[in-house]
Amino acid sequence: MVDRRAFLGGLGAAFLASRLPLRAESSPRITLLHTNDTHSHLEPLASGSLAGRGGIARRAALVKRLRSQGGNLLLLDAGDVFQGTPYFNRFKGSLDYKLMSMAGYDAGTLGNHDFDAGIEGLMTALEEATFPILNCNFTWEGAPRLGQKILPWTVKTFPGLKVGLTGVGVEFHGLVFPKNHEGVGWRDPVAPLGAVVRRLREVEKVDLLVVLSHLGLDHHGAAIDDLNLARLVPGIDVIIGGHTHTFMDTPVRVDDTHIFQVGYAGVNLGRMDFALGPKGEAIACGSASLPLVDRRG
Ligand SMILES: [Zn+2]
Repeated sequence: MVDRRAFLGGLGAAFLASRLPLRAESSPRITLLHTNDTHSHLEPLASGSLAGRGGIARRAALVKRLRSQGGNLLLLDAGDVFQGTPYFNRFKGSLDYKLMSMAGYDAGTLGNHDFDAGIEGLMTALEEATFPILNCNFTWEGAPRLGQKILPWTVKTFPGLKVGLTGVGVEFHGLVFPKNHEGVGWRDPVAPLGAVVRRLREVEKVDLLVVLSHLGLDHHGAAIDDLNLARLVPGIDVIIGGHTHTFMDTPVRVDDTHIFQVGYAGVNLGRMDFALGPKGEAIACGSASLPLVDRRG
């Protein structure tokens, strides 16, 4: 039998251990929860060193519990929802988006594998998504109906706090069959993301700016990655990453940007907490990679 208290106690200890003292406890705060590369793992992993971990039901239960504590919270995903289990072969991503919607996701982005059912397959699956899918560096001239379903950015407004969200995707070449992304083009994300960041900062006046990135954390100079993106595009507070399936215990900081990624297959839920400082600056005040496992007492 599962001991819920032991499970939550473990999570609490892991989270509190990474907390930093805050100067102004009463300032507006927000919790970002996030996944990446869930790859149709709707059930816990059946084998391997992470056997028993993950599962959309367990993820949804933890998110529900954290939401019930009150406070401002966003649940986000960095792409590659599709491909990896028989659930994808059967439902082509529709079930993933349906269950993510039920779990309360607020926004997601497109990974390379999210094109594995082709443009029409992606459009069919997106009918089940009640949350926006964000991307600002793909072009849609040859796939305008899909383009209409994808937002370049969005803003979520909380009491005393505005969060700007956008997304960037990895180059298709070598990763996606040409016929599966027919009509969708890729641009280096630096210029289009820079334009979106300026819009979100200067016009929308967001307090916290979050990029959902499926570029990958570090390609060692071979391609644009999250580390370079943070250096090349000023004004990003948070990059929630994916694609490289990188297990990180805490975010890495590049200049003023916090970059985090929590493995793959939904075995962890990332958590980052921010507060607004006296000048409106985002102050990181805690982070954790929460393992999605029931601990036995
Ligand atoms: Zn990927």
